[in-house]
Amino acid sequence: MKGQLKNVVSIQTMSDLSQIREKLVAGGRVTRAEAIQLWNEASPVELAELANIIRRRFNDTKVVTYLVDRNINYTNVCNSDCSFCAFYRHDPKHPEAYVLSDAQLDKKIEEALELGASRILLQGGHNDDLPYSFYPNLIARIKKKYRIDLNAFSPSEVQQMQRISGKSALEVLSDLKAAGLDGLPGGGAEILDDEVRRRVSPKKIKADEWIAVMEAAQSLDLITTASMVIGFGETIENRLNHLERLRNLQDRSQKAGHKGFNMFISWNLVFNENTSIGRSRHSDSYGVSATEYLKNVALARIFLDNIPHHQASWPTLGANMAQIGLHFGCDDIGSTMMEENVVSQAGAPTKEKWSMSPEELRQHIRGAGFIPAQRDSALNILKVFDQPEAA
Ligand code: SF4
Repeated sequence: MKGQLKNVVSIQTMSDLSQIREKLVAGGRVTRAEAIQLWNEASPVELAELANIIRRRFNDTKVVTYLVDRNINYTNVCNSDCSFCAFYRHDPKHPEAYVLSDAQLDKKIEEALELGASRILLQGGHNDDLPYSFYPNLIARIKKKYRIDLNAFSPSEVQQMQRISGKSALEVLSDLKAAGLDGLPGGGAEILDDEVRRRVSPKKIKADEWIAVMEAAQSLDLITTASMVIGFGETIENRLNHLERLRNLQDRSQKAGHKGFNMFISWNLVFNENTSIGRSRHSDSYGVSATEYLKNVALARIFLDNIPHHQASWPTLGANMAQIGLHFGCDDIGSTMMEENVVSQAGAPTKEKWSMSPEELRQHIRGAGFIPAQRDSALNILKVFDQPEAA
């Protein structure tokens, strides 16, 4: 009797999954309840297959893109004290606290240009010592001196600028855009659910505030990306709250005639004894397995059916895992980065290997069975590498 019941349940599940599959093939959208059902009942391989159905709606399934860029962290001073962060120094007078000088910034930008970079990604902590004028002046100076796309300041940094200036997010972003800002990266999202944020980063921007800053950026047609970090001990409901916030914003922005997010990037939490949660007695409850990471990559691709590009990220789980992620609905492998200071200090493999050359990225893409193509930060294809290259 017990065996018979089990068979009935599994037949029911299979028919539900094939109905969801048919719905996706026909161009439909999964509901929240269906997404949770997929999470609980579909195998990783089934999720990958469904994710690739959505991928096919947007891009050439033979091609995977990459970006030549450099990450630069202009300051490590931060007042937010996130429990998972080992990058920041709270006290501006700490011997390791820094704000990069113009000369240091220029050197990094010139090194990136030599490598053929088309973008600089500029992010930092929330440094109370920096006046509001620092930010537009920083953008204006770089854009005047160099021909390079500049994506800078995540929503929580914009909120820091709001605090010190008394301006709205729209006013701050308008000032930055007038100074030459091209885009706003989607950092600092972690899990967009205040139940999780109250536990791990209570001083940082709240979920709806993060969305409001991004909505303002999208209304100005700045390039924006969305991100997600899993492994804070969050539930599937918390994750769906995150994904639903992103999907709803994307629907609103696109309905208003804007592009919205051009890419979604997720990665797993890494932490070591340099972080507060890594030192805590509950550290066992953080982190996710590689399989869970891949399942989340696929579920996000399925659920976020209005964000055209999804990235398989290499810094936290390595290039091999990013290659597998390309088979879970992703069409981009990220970027050269050239330097990484945030997850590296929390124990990510980037501590040893913090940069990828364009050639290495192309090799990883080819190794996964795809044709590499270099893109810019607006997702324009700059060059397709469809001929064999020497390893
Ligand atoms: S994660 Fe960002 S906001 Fe949080 S402490 Fe680190 S630098 Fe500050």
